[in-house]
Amino acid sequence: MASILDEPIAPNPHHYRPCYHCNKIDYKKVTTTWWGGILGPKLLNHVKCNNCGTTYNGKTGQSNLNAILFYTGSILLVTMFLLYGLSLLGLL
Ligand SMILES: [Zn+2]
Repeated sequence: MASILDEPIAPNPHHYRPCYHCNKIDYKKVTTTWWGGILGPKLLNHVKCNNCGTTYNGKTGQSNLNAILFYTGSILLVTMFLLYGLSLLGLL
């Protein structure tokens, strides 16, 4: 029989890693960000530590900064590519 004492102190429904900054497992999922809208934080398992406010990748327990730069860079490239394609077609 499972006792309530067997439960982790902080809820961890996604079995994510502890915060790389303060080492606590007390996070909430980030649903929208300025850099990724709704999709970005979902793709990168972006969570925010309730203890120190650090945002990180819940799957890896590491900072998402490089992934965010890659993500925004990719979107920028795709956008520029699309704009270039449209201008070639004479649509712009
Ligand atoms: Zn933290």
